[in-house]
Amino acid sequence: MFDATAAPPRQLARPAYCEVVVEIARPELARVFTYRVPDGLDVRIGSRVRAPFGSRSVEGYVLGLRDSTDLPPERVKPVGSLLDDTPALLPELIGLARWMERQYACLPVESLRLLIPAQMREGRVNIRSETVARLSDALLDPDALAATVSGLRSRRANRQAEALESIARSESGFVPRGELQPSAVASLRLGGLVTLEKRERLRAPRVDPIEPTADPPLTPDQSRALAALRDALDSGGGSFLLWGVTGSGKTEVFIRLAREALSRGLGVITLVPEIALTPQMTSWFHARFGKRAAVLHSRLSAGERYDEWRRIRRGDARVIIGARSAIFAPVERLGVVIVDEEHENSYVSERHPCYDARDAARERCRAANAVLVLASATPSLPDFARALRGQFHLLEMPRRVNGRPLPAVELVDMRQEIAKGNFSVLSAPLAQALAETIRDGKQAMLLMNRRGYSTFVSCRACGYVERCDQCDVSMTYHQADGSLRCHYCGASRVPPTRCPACGSGYIKYFGAGTQKVEAAVRELLPSTTVLRMDSDTSRGKDAYIGLLRAFREGEARVMIGTQMIAKGLDFPNVTLVGVIAADAMLHLPDYRSPERTFQLVTQAAGRAGRADSPGRVIVQTYDPGHYSVAAARAQDYRAFYEREIDARRLGLYPPFTRMTRILYEGADPDAVRSACETDHAAMLSFLRDNQPLRRQVVHMNARPAPIERIKGQTRWQLFLKLYARGPTAALLERLRELVAGRSGSDPRASLQIDPPNLL
Ligand code: ADP
Ligand code: ZN
Ligand code: ZN
Repeated sequence: MFDATAAPPRQLARPAYCEVVVEIARPELARVFTYRVPDGLDVRIGSRVRAPFGSRSVEGYVLGLRDSTDLPPERVKPVGSLLDDTPALLPELIGLARWMERQYACLPVESLRLLIPAQMREGRVNIRSETVARLSDALLDPDALAATVSGLRSRRANRQAEALESIARSESGFVPRGELQPSAVASLRLGGLVTLEKRERLRAPRVDPIEPTADPPLTPDQSRALAALRDALDSGGGSFLLWGVTGSGKTEVFIRLAREALSRGLGVITLVPEIALTPQMTSWFHARFGKRAAVLHSRLSAGERYDEWRRIRRGDARVIIGARSAIFAPVERLGVVIVDEEHENSYVSERHPCYDARDAARERCRAANAVLVLASATPSLPDFARALRGQFHLLEMPRRVNGRPLPAVELVDMRQEIAKGNFSVLSAPLAQALAETIRDGKQAMLLMNRRGYSTFVSCRACGYVERCDQCDVSMTYHQADGSLRCHYCGASRVPPTRCPACGSGYIKYFGAGTQKVEAAVRELLPSTTVLRMDSDTSRGKDAYIGLLRAFREGEARVMIGTQMIAKGLDFPNVTLVGVIAADAMLHLPDYRSPERTFQLVTQAAGRAGRADSPGRVIVQTYDPGHYSVAAARAQDYRAFYEREIDARRLGLYPPFTRMTRILYEGADPDAVRSACETDHAAMLSFLRDNQPLRRQVVHMNARPAPIERIKGQTRWQLFLKLYARGPTAALLERLRELVAGRSGSDPRASLQIDPPNLL
């Protein structure tokens, strides 16, 4: 499947045996199997092979080569075939996979799988090929070619002569048959002068071209940051936390750093949250880096994704931008990894193996002596703590480009609104500001962190709440189609008019979502075009892109959305940002709620006034005195950090502890419970004889997960809160063993360490 032209010359003597991890996720197969390398098969480390296994034939990954084996020769079977012409796995990525295997307690095959596009397994890629014409071997000699061409011309076979010349001129040595004159090609082929072959054609994802702009002169903050990063590039790497306020020009620093790396022959990976990979971002990235750029995101088709991966593997693309899994891009000689908006939850995979792309990036950079840059206006608390302890070099960019002021943030106390008799989701000051913004021809964004209309439906008489049958959660009312929907599995049903429990007619709708905000804005400004962007309206790639374009082009004046709109979007005409319920998440049972609130409000505020008009930010809250709201208002990360780190120290939360759990999921509730309780018992006996390890555990329990059922799957968790300092590693090791022992079996078990959500 790979073209051999990209293959480097062989250096090893032909090995007699190879060690293969087979593509079957079962704990008892979690080791390498030895196969014989048949004559003529160019098997290397990182090759994917097809090999006999028992009575069937399976795919496998070659992780080692050997000259001899202790096994009796008759027991060693030969590899069947190679799946690709060039090894699919880079040796350094095999190293990363082995690290993940330990870190996240997964099977070797589960971490190796992450390294290649899913479509490559089981040959699911739809490879598009084209027929190309090459010169026959005899014509590779220039004199022979010249003689043949003049011979053809003398016979007036000019089209054949032209075809030969155009193939000879082509850089690649071949020309697609479709670009040549058909009868000329047919004659040349009959005469043995050209050969035809099928060749894979790469799909380039469609990008809207934009003109590259000239580089702006850097601000002093940018120059300082770049200088430090460049030094690290030249001296064997380093880890940095780039803490720059919104609008400080972090992106420009990334671009200059990427150019420095390219000019040294080094590759670059930039991770951004999936949601920030807008078409605008993609075009702009291509404009700056041209053909050396590759973009990996989930809106690519399977084929496009595979082709981008191939361009990277071949070394054609050297600057990669992508979401979480782009950390596994097969970039050789890696120089820089940038993680933008590093505080985002989306860098942690929710599926086993639950890897954290930031940790994988750190490990990859360590092994490659590359520079790691984590960047944010609101760094995650643990990472800022690490920076203060010296584990990251802290780079600060405290000023906005051109000295534009940070927008003023006004708080509105919603309790006073209610006291004044305003029960709308829009406070009087926000409603007035909206009207003024529209009157001035500007745009506004309103942020509401929940979708739907009402968040739950309940009986006033008996307290009954309408819940999903498959998931242990309440259902949300959606006004558009008048249905109740489950946000975990998508189930929908008609809302009851009488209470199913007590028969009462007092059914009430509680809480507010984006749809309710939309209704309120339409009522306030009936002639204004309003867009709503949440996962209900932007399902599918085109819907999302279409909504963004409509807003950018001013077709809509107000955009209402969930956190989807809070990050990274740069709309110059937006002068008002409203945060509808800043503290909606403040009272969720999660120790990170204050941090999330602070991040959300700060990032949302960063959307306003990015161009020349000053911005205005209105934050509605029921708890204006809360420190996270107050610190976000002052845009004072340090103040928030100091306060929050104290709270974490007192409450024994990360980074002082590690919130660790094994999550068990399966269809059979008894099996799930029993798996969890069995492992709990195993941990208890492990700790019984080990006093130092026991002291490491703040507490441990085996219970149903906070959401006990999702999509019909029962969920239990073995939860441990561990002190971060001390012999935590030995405990995690024991947990890893328990999880690894259950790999690939039912119920599923996954190990999560400080996961983004503990529901
Ligand atoms: P951040 O990511 O830090 O929030 P951006 O990278 O989006 O900030 O930069 C904010 C704006 O400033 C962008 O429109 C960008 O093009 C512009 N910008 C960045 N650096 C410079 C510079 N040195 N001179 C002028 N404009 C700049
Ligand atoms: Zn009732
Ligand atoms: Zn459900």
